[in-house]
Amino acid sequence: MTLKTTFLALGILTSVFCSAQKTSYNYTIDLTRVVDDRVYVELKTPKITTDETTFFLPKIIPGTYSIADYGRFVVDLKAFDKKGKELPVEKVETNSWKIKNAKKLNRITYWVDDVVDTPKEGPSVYPMAATNIEDGKNFVLNTSGLFGYFENNKDVGYGVDVIRPKNFYGSTGLIPVQSNVPLTSLKREQKPEPDTKRIDKYYMENYDRLIDSPIMYAETDTAIIRVANTEVLIGSYSPNKKVSAKEIAATIKDVLTAQNSYLGGKLPVDKYAFIFYFTDKPIQSYGALEHSYSSFYYMPEKTIEAMQQQLRDFAAHEFFHIVTPLNIHSEEIHRFDFNNPKMSKHLWMYEGVTEYFAGNMQVKYGLISREQYLEVIRNKMSIADNFLDDVPFTEISSQTLDKYADQYYNVYQKGALIGMCLDIKLRKLSDGKYGLQDLMADLSKKFGKNQAFEDEALFGEIEKLTYPEIGEFLKRYVAGSESLPFDEVFALVGIQHLPTAPDKKYSIGFGGGALALTEDRKLKIGKASGITEQGRSLGLQAEDVLLKINGTPLTGDPGEMSAVIFKHFQALKEGEQLSFTVSRKDEQGNYQTQELSAPVKMIEAEKKHVLSFDESASPEVVATRNAWLSPQ
Ligand SMILES: [Zn+2]
Repeated sequence: MTLKTTFLALGILTSVFCSAQKTSYNYTIDLTRVVDDRVYVELKTPKITTDETTFFLPKIIPGTYSIADYGRFVVDLKAFDKKGKELPVEKVETNSWKIKNAKKLNRITYWVDDVVDTPKEGPSVYPMAATNIEDGKNFVLNTSGLFGYFENNKDVGYGVDVIRPKNFYGSTGLIPVQSNVPLTSLKREQKPEPDTKRIDKYYMENYDRLIDSPIMYAETDTAIIRVANTEVLIGSYSPNKKVSAKEIAATIKDVLTAQNSYLGGKLPVDKYAFIFYFTDKPIQSYGALEHSYSSFYYMPEKTIEAMQQQLRDFAAHEFFHIVTPLNIHSEEIHRFDFNNPKMSKHLWMYEGVTEYFAGNMQVKYGLISREQYLEVIRNKMSIADNFLDDVPFTEISSQTLDKYADQYYNVYQKGALIGMCLDIKLRKLSDGKYGLQDLMADLSKKFGKNQAFEDEALFGEIEKLTYPEIGEFLKRYVAGSESLPFDEVFALVGIQHLPTAPDKKYSIGFGGGALALTEDRKLKIGKASGITEQGRSLGLQAEDVLLKINGTPLTGDPGEMSAVIFKHFQALKEGEQLSFTVSRKDEQGNYQTQELSAPVKMIEAEKKHVLSFDESASPEVVATRNAWLSPQ
C-alpha cells in the first residue's frame, strides 16, 4: 500500500516532466514477420533520463481481476543504442527487464509468443485477454500481451504501427491516425517488395488507453450498425465461416437499441466495436472482456442460431460496462497499477450491477419474457448456493486476486442478485419512480470517466443520493455478512419462492464432482457415490477410465475431455442410447476395454429456488413489479 502510493506519486511527477519533454513510445509490430507463432515487435523508446530503467509488461489488466503475467510470453528481448550497439539487459522477474546505460537507449526489440497456443508455467490467462498469432489467418492484438512501458513513464503518447498483409482489416474501437499506408513509405525498407503489405498507424494518449484498445486483424468480415448517436462496428473471425459479422449485427441490434433506451437515450461513446474471435478448438473457458470503446469476445464457433441468446447476453453485459467500471469506478481502477495492483471492494457493482442490467434490460424491453427472466434469477440463485455466503462481498472483492480467487465467478451470480435487491427496494421506496438505472446515471454524473470515488466512501455517496434504507441494506448485506433477504425483497414484487421442488433431469451417468484423474491424466470415475441412476443403468463403476463417449474419443487435456463430455450431456434425449467405452481393471489387475450402453432416461431430481409470480398480488405490489420489469 505504501509502495503503491509512492510509485503512483512518482508516476504523476515523472509524467508531467516527461510530457514537457514530449517523450513518447513508437511501436512497430510486423504481422507479416511471424515465425513459429511468434511475432516481431520493435520499440523506438522514449528518452530515458536515468542510468538504469526497468521495462514492464503487465502482470494484470483492468477488468480481468486475475493475474496474467504477460511477461512470460516475451522472448529474446534486446536493447540497443542509437548506433545499433546492444545494451546490457537483465531479466528481473516474470514481467520486468532491467536495462543498463539507459540514457543511451534508443530501441528495444523482442518476439512475442501467442498466449492461446503457448503452454507456459504459471497462471492461465483468460482467452478474451490473450493474444492469438496465426500466420496468414488471424491476429488478436490484445495489447497487454504485446506492448510494455518503462517504470514511472506510462502517461505519455504511444504510437503503434501495424504492418499487415494487404488483404487484412483491423477491427478496433480506435480510429487510426492513418490506415492502409503502402509499405514503400517506410524508410528502413531497403529494396522495394511486391505490394502485399500495408501499415495502419494508431496513436494512444497513454499506456492505459493502449491496453484498453484491442485490435483484431483478419480478412475482412465486418458490419456496421448505428445506435442513436453511436456508430457500432462488428468485426468477426469465424475460421470455418459458420457465423458472419452481418448475422451478429442483426442479432444484437435490438439489444443495443434497448440498452440505449435503458441508459436514457444517449450513449457515452461515438464509436464502439464488438470484436469476435470464434474458435473451433475444444476449450476450457470462454468469455468476453470490456474496454472503453470496444469489447472482445472469445467464443466457441457455432452457427448464429446455436449461440443466439448467449451472444446477446454477452454483448449486453460487456456493452453495459460503459456505465461501470468505465464511468463509475474507484481510485484503484482509475490509477490502475499494472504490476502492483490493488483491488477495489466494489465488484458487486462493476460486475454484479452490469450483469444485472444485462438481464433486467432484456425483460424490460420485451427481448425475453417475464417467465424467462425468473429463470435467469433462479439460475443465479442456484449457482450462488455453491459459493461462500458468510463473508462480506466487499471482502471477497478486495481479495479476489488471492484469498478469494475461487469465489470470483460469484460476482456474476450474487453480485447480480445484490443489484436486483437494490433495484426492487429503490422502486418500492420511490413509488416506482427511481431505480438502479437512475442511481447509476446519477453516480456517473457525479463521478464519470475521469473522476474516481474513494473505495470507502461509495456506500455513503449512494445513501446520500437515495434513502437511509438503502444505506442500511448495503451495510448489512454487502459490507456485512448477512445472506441476501430474498423473501423480503420478492414480497415487494409478488414473487413466490420455493427453496426446493421435485424435478426431473438428465444425467450423463455421474455428477460433476465424481471425476478424477489417473496418473497419466485421463479421466476416471473417482468414487462410486458420484455415479447416478443413469450411470448405474450403464454399469459404470468406480475407477473406470473413460476412453470414449458415444464413440467420440476422449483425448487432450482434462479440460478438453470435460468439454466433450459436457457437449454430449447437452445433447441427451430421452430414449436415445448413451454409451461409454471404459478401461477397467479385472481380477488379475489387467486393464480390459469394456463397452457400456443404456437408453437415456430422465431421473428424479430436486429443483432449487423455484420462482413464480403471485397472481393474487395486491395492486400496490403489482405496481412495484411493473416499475421493476417495464420501461418507465
Ligand atoms: Zn463484466
